[in-house]
Amino acid sequence: MRRLLLATLSLATVAIAQSISIEEFEPKSTLRVPEHKPTRAKFPFIDVHNHQRDVSPGKLTQLIQDMESLNMGILINSPVSRGHGKWVADAVTAMKAHAPTRFAVMTNIDESNLDDPNYSARAAAQLETDIKAGAIGLKVWKQFGTTLRDSVGRIKVDDPRFDAVWAMCAKYKIPVLIHTADPWGLFQPMDKNNERWLELKLQARRNQSQQTEYTWEQLIAEQHRLFARHPQTTFINAHLGWLGHDLGRLGELLDRLPNVYAEIGAVTSELGRQPRAAHRFFVKYQDRILFGKDAYNVSEYSVYFRLLETDDEHFDPIRKYHGIWKLYGLALPDDVLKKLYYKNALKIFPGLSSAGFPR
Ligand SMILES: [Zn+2]
Repeated sequence: MRRLLLATLSLATVAIAQSISIEEFEPKSTLRVPEHKPTRAKFPFIDVHNHQRDVSPGKLTQLIQDMESLNMGILINSPVSRGHGKWVADAVTAMKAHAPTRFAVMTNIDESNLDDPNYSARAAAQLETDIKAGAIGLKVWKQFGTTLRDSVGRIKVDDPRFDAVWAMCAKYKIPVLIHTADPWGLFQPMDKNNERWLELKLQARRNQSQQTEYTWEQLIAEQHRLFARHPQTTFINAHLGWLGHDLGRLGELLDRLPNVYAEIGAVTSELGRQPRAAHRFFVKYQDRILFGKDAYNVSEYSVYFRLLETDDEHFDPIRKYHGIWKLYGLALPDDVLKKLYYKNALKIFPGLSSAGFPR
């Protein structure tokens, strides 16, 4: 009787195993190839896309320890949620007092009372105040162009009421790190052909396929029009402008608009599935790409270093839901790595100390 029960149980296990879900599927690779798992970057780097809400001395001490272990020379902190004014001034004071050459701070646009006829002048003046308080960049959140509204409706990414803000950035030569839209797949139907199916399943809030106010193409077009209309303003297109799956198109944008740069936060899965094309892209546009991570997690930087520095094959991504495939290293040459890691950031952000970075 007991034996029968056991036999039935193991049959049931087999039956379950024959129909596992994508979430459960975790195949262990049998591939035996050289592996490198650098926990420290080959050269000191500047993280241009980082969010730290807590800037207390204890937290900053911990951050410096993390940075030492990663070889992060400078951390550029963007406010976590629409910070400007007092938040920025306080963050600059706290971070500069702690380690003047290791931290820098960005600000956000004051988005209050967008209907105010005097809004443009007020927002530009607030930005100028923040720059004078020490902000070295402007971070624009993805709400800009999607959920941000005035009494009439959605604010478009290229809405002219912000022109005075972009002009202020040009005046003080501070770059704008801008996040517009999200991966293309999150705007498409959640069906068996969608590469982002798993992300849509696990992060249902990110599903924008039912969105009626805008499409992915519309948001991207608005962003590119904004870049073209302000050639004196430097824009850093966060997350490769969500064109990591189409580097040819991103290259055309960079060719057309010399004021545009790109940042690589959260797109390791896009790059790691096309190591040859991505290698060529990084070589060709070596003066236009910056290192950023966005979500702060010390252990995850290792995947960035492995992707950029090594020629490792078929290794695990940071998050399976960014793409259910393995990554392949780009093996970038040292000259390209140095530009990506720090030279380009030192060039476009004002006031960063180059102490500690190789020439
Ligand atoms: Zn961000």
